[in-house]
Amino acid sequence: MVVETTDVVIAGGGPVGLMLACELRLAGVEVTLVDGLRARTGASRAGGIHARTMEIFDQRGLLERLLPQGRPIQAGHFGGLPLDFTDFPTRHPYMLAVLQSAIERELDQRAAELGASVHWASPVAGFDSDTAGIEVGLGGPNPRSIRAAYLVGCDGGRSVVRKLAGIEFTGTDATMTGMIADVELSDPPAEAFFGQRRGAGDFSAVQFQPDWYRLVVQRHDRVLERGIELSFENFRANFTEIAGTDFGMHSPRWVTRYSDAARLADRYRAGRVLLAGDAAHIHYPAGGQGLNMGVQDAVNLGWKLGATLRGNAPADILDTYETERRPIAARVLHNTRAQTALSRSGAHTDALRDIMSDLIDLDEVRQRLGHMITALDIRYDIKGDHPLTGRRIPDADLTTATGDTRAHELLRAARPILLLLNGTETSSVTGWDDRVDVVRATARTEYWVIPRVGKIPTPAAVLIRPDGYVAYATTAPGDEGLTDALTAWIGTAS
Ligand SMILES: Cc1cc2nc3c(=O)[nH]c(=O)nc-3n(C[C@H](O)[C@H](O)[C@H](O)COP(=O)(O)OP(=O)(O)OC[C@H]3O[C@@H](n4cnc5c(N)ncnc54)[C@H](O)[C@@H]3O)c2cc1C
Repeated sequence: MVVETTDVVIAGGGPVGLMLACELRLAGVEVTLVDGLRARTGASRAGGIHARTMEIFDQRGLLERLLPQGRPIQAGHFGGLPLDFTDFPTRHPYMLAVLQSAIERELDQRAAELGASVHWASPVAGFDSDTAGIEVGLGGPNPRSIRAAYLVGCDGGRSVVRKLAGIEFTGTDATMTGMIADVELSDPPAEAFFGQRRGAGDFSAVQFQPDWYRLVVQRHDRVLERGIELSFENFRANFTEIAGTDFGMHSPRWVTRYSDAARLADRYRAGRVLLAGDAAHIHYPAGGQGLNMGVQDAVNLGWKLGATLRGNAPADILDTYETERRPIAARVLHNTRAQTALSRSGAHTDALRDIMSDLIDLDEVRQRLGHMITALDIRYDIKGDHPLTGRRIPDADLTTATGDTRAHELLRAARPILLLLNGTETSSVTGWDDRVDVVRATARTEYWVIPRVGKIPTPAAVLIRPDGYVAYATTAPGDEGLTDALTAWIGTAS
């Protein structure tokens, strides 16, 4: 029985589904988010976010809510080899240690403020699409159907939506097992972060909050069978075997396990069904990239799906979600596989780590790896010669007629922006002014610093997509390139 109609059903209220719900509401789209859980568990897999995700949250005014709940730390690494982010060209050259539960709480609240409809205890159990829409069947205590134009599976690594859509999830199987317990310690290590490689694995103890620690043990000599639950006592035995102590662990809040299985959806779209976040990609959690990447999937997809539903978007815009985001996920799978290799035990890996460690001392290597892990170096394949084209707009200091501002602050409403700098004028926006906001500003610096590029002179005009990526930039504006970019990304002139 269809009890509700909406524009988009989102399956899954993790960070990715919630971020997508916010983005779609900003695009003026009706959203119903459904999750199979009765309520949030409060558990946190992720414990940190990187610079590009902080920038993305800042673009939507969410970062100011999260900063007080986190702690800036230099905890970046590649396969456990430290990567210092301090000199990275971003307002946030650090990792923000913030719990996934805090991120979900803020996103829950924001989605509610923006008017998303959220239903718990409502797992997606099936769907049926036709030329006019998709009917999504919900199970749980109150079985019913919702009619929509699109269904987005943000339902995690074991995505039911992906399986029902017949999308293959190909990759490599687990070669190791990681185990986590959030506990209290009666005999903690002296340092707030303590870790060592030992024997067949490695272990760490991180003080997440004053009264509790996250203990992690990784075993490279065994792969636990899927489906077998890890008990606290089993965790203690494994931890003690590798670490030689249990630090007096007690009062477990959460015990879980993970692996280095790495899989990528063959397609991100099958007709009216799309995938985002862990539903589209899973990998070894090294470097803390999964949540970051999923939130960025949501921000890439949201405005494109919104424009498609409004009916005035370029015909192929939804396809660019997969062409832009799937290679990013493939790259993360690639770098996490390399990090697994660097984490193994034995003399061969020790030698590899020594050499990598020397290389990471070179600024160019450290920056190359760090810009990749933080996703600051992403360049989408967008037509244009300017070095900014396809890259993120830096958070440049600007002054407009109403006062001082920043480039990322201009993106709060998630609308495309034509930024005209230092007196530049153009007539090209006529016909798109209903969909593009024109901002005239003075740049407060003569040059901008771009990851992987270096210093560039402040451009004269920049067309910024709602996700913060540059569709067109020039130092000497001519209407032709701009007109092409507006047509390609915003649609035909009205
Ligand atoms: C040990 C570990 C540490 C990590 N640390 C980091 C880190 O520091 N930084 C980082 O960026 N990433 C980290 N990650 C990865 C991060 O936790 C995930 O990438 C992130 O949770 C993915 O979010 P998601 O919304 O795609 O999926 P999930 O968080 O898995 O959410 C999926 C949601 O879908 C719901 N659902 C499932 N089936 C259905 C259904 N049929 N219908 C409706 N709803 C359904 C679930 O109940 C759930 O709420 C870590 C992962 C692990 C394992």
